[in-house]
Amino acid sequence: MRQYLNKTAFDEVMGAILKGSKIDRLIADHISTGMKEWAITKGVTHYTHWFQPLTGATAEKHDAFFETIGGGAAIERFGGGELVQQEPDASSFPNGGIRNMFEARGYTAWDPTSPAFIYGTTLCIPTVFVSYTGEALDYKTPLLRALQAVDSAAVAVCKYFDKNVKKVNASLGWEQEYFLIDKALVASRPDIVATGRTLLGHSSAKGQQLEDHYFGTIPNRAMSFMRDLEHECMLLGIPVKTRHNEVAPNQFELAPIYEEANLAVDHNSLLMDLMHKTAERHHFKVLFHEKPFAGVNGSGKHNNWSLSTDTGVNLLGPGKTPMSNLQFLTFFINTIKAVHDNEELLRAVIASASNDHRLGANEAPPAIISVFIGEQLTKVLTELKNVTSGKLSPEEKTELKLNVVGKIPEIMLDNTDRNRTSPFAFTGNKFEFRAVGSKANCANPMTVLNSIVAKQLIEFKDEVDVLIDKKDMKKDDAIFNVLREYIKKSKNILFEGNGYGEAWEVEAKKRGLSNNKSTPEALKVRVSKKTIDLFDGLGVMNKVESVARYEIEMEDYIHRIQIESRVLGDISRSHIVPTAVRYQNILIENVKGLKEIYGTSFKTVAKEQLALIEDISSHIESINSKVTKMIDARRTINKEEDIEKKALDYSYVINPMFADIRYHCDKLELLIDDELWPLTKYRELLFIK
Ligand code: ADP
Ligand code: MG
Repeated sequence: MRQYLNKTAFDEVMGAILKGSKIDRLIADHISTGMKEWAITKGVTHYTHWFQPLTGATAEKHDAFFETIGGGAAIERFGGGELVQQEPDASSFPNGGIRNMFEARGYTAWDPTSPAFIYGTTLCIPTVFVSYTGEALDYKTPLLRALQAVDSAAVAVCKYFDKNVKKVNASLGWEQEYFLIDKALVASRPDIVATGRTLLGHSSAKGQQLEDHYFGTIPNRAMSFMRDLEHECMLLGIPVKTRHNEVAPNQFELAPIYEEANLAVDHNSLLMDLMHKTAERHHFKVLFHEKPFAGVNGSGKHNNWSLSTDTGVNLLGPGKTPMSNLQFLTFFINTIKAVHDNEELLRAVIASASNDHRLGANEAPPAIISVFIGEQLTKVLTELKNVTSGKLSPEEKTELKLNVVGKIPEIMLDNTDRNRTSPFAFTGNKFEFRAVGSKANCANPMTVLNSIVAKQLIEFKDEVDVLIDKKDMKKDDAIFNVLREYIKKSKNILFEGNGYGEAWEVEAKKRGLSNNKSTPEALKVRVSKKTIDLFDGLGVMNKVESVARYEIEMEDYIHRIQIESRVLGDISRSHIVPTAVRYQNILIENVKGLKEIYGTSFKTVAKEQLALIEDISSHIESINSKVTKMIDARRTINKEEDIEKKALDYSYVINPMFADIRYHCDKLELLIDDELWPLTKYRELLFIK
């Protein structure tokens, strides 16, 4: 930027990044020209507004810099207008009814806080995507609003501790899990091609039982993919740092150094696209689906989250003095309270057809949201719960500061206890939201988390101020008093035990925590009055936007189950049943031959074959009748106009039929001659490296 922009333009861009100030339209012309000059030196020919519509993928529409100027001549041009705003047709992106109410037009607008980048020979400008009337049609818009809300709410609370704080940034470090499967093998599986997962397939004799893959040496082809990918990431400024094998065969993980949340979200979206492109070159297919294979672990995307100030303090990291530790406890306890008050919304924001396979299954966090903080911090909260109501005596304050708050840095050092079964865990200097799906756009969970914490911090400030102003309390007395009440009120969300166990389900129910197992149930809370008011009050989303998102997510759920159901029906009928018949004919020929040789006593020698013939018939019969039943059920459900009822029917009527049909297909896989079996098997998909 310093090389291609003059000082005024440089300062304007930095002002927009650091302070959110507006960029002057005339200066935008200068900035766009600078961008173009820079891009052309890198061989760029086109530019695009790069955005994240609610499809889950990224969107781009390229335009060349090329412009004719008459007389057979042309120049390369990129004006400020083109940088700042574009007008793509919004009608073919998910809009949840917003389009019907207004116009099809949508706008993309430059987000200067996320750096433009060059992808191939295209200059990409990160943008927000909104409707003609300003409603968000993308992931970035509400995220930016939520980040702003948490910034101002957190700054106000920080002022109790340090008057110099002017900005608080939310940070995100995601950990991306994925499967790498040979591309040709994937192409031979219509289910993976169409749905991203296997809808059938008997588990392989060897799966993950030997635990020989996790953290093992990285297979050569995977390694060369990773190195290629990391090189591309380096060129794009995505700070990837960690790579390793995950638990399931052919499953891997990569993680970057954490960044400011908006940038981290963009980088994760870009990375997922980059991974697909890089995998092509290595003849791999990347699977981001949360559960591509039954019987082995699925994939998640832990969202490591913290808040830090422009003075360089991590608000979720304990400090060196009692006062900075009180600040830490303030943010720590407020986050717990926010999760407690909004546990159902946090569950909703990670809900999807594919993540349903993972939540509640026994390798992933349960569908119940709880917070793990470790034994040491639990003790601290227990002591704080006993703080005297009202003004504190000098002795009590000294005791608290020296022996409770003051001891935190020491105890944190050996707080290495890591509960892997918790969906939301405190890990030393950050919270780790582990229930996020591997395929998800992190903007969604980050929007909710930052919004609920923003709202909580606003309430906290109000309550503390009342005690200071009306009850004549000292600032730290007031803070201790409010925190004490918060600990009491949110104790039900804290859980240190095994989140996978059945006992926890029972216990959670007693505590009144929600346990919404399927997406349609989980999503409902997105249109509750409480949620709509929360987002509306913070300026993150208005009611129209909240309702639109709910509808988009419900529709997405319906479509995904519908597609899976069709694909499963097709494969069962056009791949599995004909193969079974063919093998059965071979057996029949064999039995006929035996009869020819052995005459009336053939039944003794043909005993197994005859049993097999019958077995095959019975599986064929089951598959056919169950597929017919499923198609009939779909036909009825598709007529349903009420989106909630339709989604629930897909969840509770159609979805359970899959396992039933699959069971018989998988049994046939074990009976039928391997030479004839038309689908690539688990042992090949998962073990060919
Ligand atoms: P794991 O959870 O697998 O042990 P780490 O805890 O080392 O892995 O880090 C996982 C991710 O958390 C990384 O992306 C890392 O940069 C990020 N991270 C570390 N500290 C913070 C923080 N204070 N705020 C947000 N993210 C962080
Ligand atoms: Mg982690």
